[in-house]
Amino acid sequence: MPEPWANWSGSVTCAPHSVVRPHSETEISSLVRQANQTNAHIRVAGTGHSFVPLCASDEILLSLDHLQGVVATNRDLRQATVWAGTKIHQLGDPLWASGLALANMGDIDRQALAGAISTGTHGTGASLGSISTQVIGLRIVAASGESIDCSPTVEPEIFKAAQVSLGALGIITQVTLQLLPAYQLHERTWIASFDECLADLETNINANRHFEFFWVPSENVCAMKALNLAQAGATPTLQRLERNAQGELTKAGFCLTGRLPRYIDDDRLDRSYRIFPSERNLKFNETEFAVPAPNGPDCLREIRQLMQTKYPAIIWPLEYRTLAADDIWLSPAYQRATVTISVHQAAELPYQPFFADVEAIFRNHQGRPHWGKIHAHTARELSQLYPLWDKFQTIRTWLDPQGMFTNDYLRTIL
Ligand SMILES: Cc1cc2nc3c(=O)[nH]c(=O)nc-3n(C[C@H](O)[C@H](O)[C@H](O)COP(=O)(O)OP(=O)(O)OC[C@H]3O[C@@H](n4cnc5c(N)ncnc54)[C@H](O)[C@@H]3O)c2cc1C
Repeated sequence: MPEPWANWSGSVTCAPHSVVRPHSETEISSLVRQANQTNAHIRVAGTGHSFVPLCASDEILLSLDHLQGVVATNRDLRQATVWAGTKIHQLGDPLWASGLALANMGDIDRQALAGAISTGTHGTGASLGSISTQVIGLRIVAASGESIDCSPTVEPEIFKAAQVSLGALGIITQVTLQLLPAYQLHERTWIASFDECLADLETNINANRHFEFFWVPSENVCAMKALNLAQAGATPTLQRLERNAQGELTKAGFCLTGRLPRYIDDDRLDRSYRIFPSERNLKFNETEFAVPAPNGPDCLREIRQLMQTKYPAIIWPLEYRTLAADDIWLSPAYQRATVTISVHQAAELPYQPFFADVEAIFRNHQGRPHWGKIHAHTARELSQLYPLWDKFQTIRTWLDPQGMFTNDYLRTIL
């Protein structure tokens, strides 16, 4: 019996012939070998937080929910090997107990680790890369059923392709992370006018370990957030509970509702993995592009003007973040210091004309789409944005010659 599957926002639904939840890598290998004999296609899902049909399957959908947890940590080297199905929010406590922590995290911590790295999921910080840049080793079951270990020194080309690979190279079973000694973060949030925000933008980006802001269209102001390392021994503040515009309690952080958060000029201090994530209880759809950092402010101004003139009814804030350049072949920050701009619309409302107009602006700024978010770029267009596109395709053909790990959506973008 097909088992219905839907992504987080509800924009993607499918009915895989079977949903398989293996308990071991051996089970994964034999499943892949069987699929080889029947020419079946396999997709892997993390937690379905991507807005596009990356995981959609009407054949075999694999979940690594039974392959979770920390396999090993090395405190001296500050490294940990983790099962690929581990949810990011399940990592904080065990890593903390080993005196370790992720160098950076995204806006939420609900994703599976392999799902997050497969799309280049990132947080903010001009000197910091995406979660994929914190990966120093991957173990992958390829279409042959064999397991391949790769790292910067072992199969380095496979590694560079696999650090952001959309589940197109095989099934990642384990991830080794380079971590930092456990640390606390101090969070400051405040409100600024749009002009103040842009006037102070470079200063704020350079002066803070993490800086981001949301432009809130309904109020035409910016909700600003800066995170910095806290002094050793600082005492955590109690986490404040606030109600969002719908009256729901949120843990802190910005409410993605178009209303201003009610705690202006707030301060918070806690373990890093408790400060990074927000709770996102209202469902939305999202598009996001990575543009060269110098283009960020103009790109933002153009999208703001579009919203104020053509889409004044859309109240969802724009999010503006920074990312350091990296060397990962399919990373949107490949070889360029980056600004990411995210645009949202309520899950129950149409987004297509709005996102298409926004995408036209991103195109003029050499934007590279977030792999997990909505865009209309084709494989041909994407190939022009990634200098090492052909090398990725060569590795892909090598690891998956028959296209076992593909689906209709991947055929349009890869
Ligand atoms: C509320 C919300 C907040 C978000 N915040 C951010 C943010 O702050 N920053 C950001 O960059 N993005 C953000 N995203 C996007 C999200 O992080 C990405 O789409 C991410 O890929 C989702 O992780 P997941 O575990 O749900 O993966 P899925 O969406 O389930 O899968 C994503 C990809 O990973 C592949 N995959 C999963 N597991 C494996 C595996 N074991 N082996 C091989 N391939 C695998 C899948 O096949 C698919 O191609 C957000 C999304 C939502 C809904």
